[in-house]
Amino acid sequence: MQKKLFFAPDAIRYAVIGDPVAHSRSPGMQNAAFAEMGMGKPYGKFHVHPSELPDFIAFAREHLLGVNLTVPHKREVIPLLDEIDPAAALAGSVNTLRIEAGRITGYSTDGYGLIAALKEEFGIAPAGKHILFVGAGGAAQATAFSLAEAGAASIAIANRSVLRAEELAAAIGNACPKCRMSALALADRTGLGAQILGADVLIQATSLGLKPEDPPPFDPALLKGSRCAVFDTIYRRTPVLEGAQAAGLPAAGGRAMLIHQGARSFAIWTGREPDLDAMRRGFEEEPGSC
Ligand code: NDP
Repeated sequence: MQKKLFFAPDAIRYAVIGDPVAHSRSPGMQNAAFAEMGMGKPYGKFHVHPSELPDFIAFAREHLLGVNLTVPHKREVIPLLDEIDPAAALAGSVNTLRIEAGRITGYSTDGYGLIAALKEEFGIAPAGKHILFVGAGGAAQATAFSLAEAGAASIAIANRSVLRAEELAAAIGNACPKCRMSALALADRTGLGAQILGADVLIQATSLGLKPEDPPPFDPALLKGSRCAVFDTIYRRTPVLEGAQAAGLPAAGGRAMLIHQGARSFAIWTGREPDLDAMRRGFEEEPGSC
C-alpha cells in the first residue's frame, strides 16, 4: 500500500486525529488554552484512516509534540508507542501522546476527565460509590478502570452485547479486586431496574444519543424512584438526560468530561495547568459535536 504523506504548517505542533475527525471540538478548546498562555494556536486536526495510523505516527514522531486520539485509534496505537503510562496500559486505551526527542509515550486522560466531571457536576467522588455503566465500548473501557482504582465500591456494566460487558467486568475485577464487579444485558429490564435503584451514579457510555433520532439505550421510565446522579458521556441533550430530569435526578452531559480530559492532556504536554474557562469558551466557539 502506498505510504501516505502528512503535512502540517510550521506553527502546528499538536493535533487530534480520528476517523471521522471533522466534528472534533478539541482544536477550539486546546487553542484557546494555548492562546491564553501566549503560545499562539498550535493545535490542528488530521483525518487518519486506520490503515494510515503507522504513517501518521512516523510523521508525528518527527514533526509534532503532542497528539490526541479519538475513535478508532485509542487501542490500535498502543503497539506503535515507545512507552505507555501504566494506567493507560491497564485500560488498554491511549488518547494522548507526548513526543519528546522523537520518543512517543501514550497516556489515557479519559478516566481523569470523567472523575473531574463527576466532581464538577455533582460534587461526587468515586470512593465507596455504586456505579452503573450503560455501555461497554471504548469509552467505558477507558474510564471504568479509573473509577475502580479510585475506590468505587461496585461497578455494574450493562451492555447490548453481554459478553463484552462480562469481559470488561472480569478484566477490571482482576486488576482491582476490591471493587465488586458485575455484568448484565441491557435487555434485562428487571436486572437493569434493580441496578438503577442501587446506583449512586449512572454513566451513559453507549453511542446512542449522538444522533437526534437515536432511541434511548434503555427505558428512561426505569429511572423513576431512583436516587442516582445521571452522567451522559455525550454532550448534546439526550433521551437519557431528559428521562433523568423528568425523574427529578441530577443530570449532566459530557462537556465537562471532554474539557477535563483535554486539560490533562495539555498539562502532560506543557507541564502547566490550562485556563479551564478559556477551554470552555473555546469549546463553545468551535463548531462540531465532540
Ligand atoms: P464504541 O463504538 O467503542 O462503543 C459503543 C457502545 O455503544 C457499545 O457499548 C455498544 O454496544 C453501544 N451501542 C451502540 N449502538 C447501540 C444500540 N443500537 N443499542 C444499544 N447499545 C448500542 O464507542 P465509544 O465507547 O468510544 O463511545 C461511546 C460514547 O462515549 C460516544 O457517544 C462518545 O461520544 C462518548 N465519549 C465521550 C467522551 C467525552 O469526553 N465526553 C470521550 C469518549 C467518548 P455493543 O458493545 O453491544 O455494540
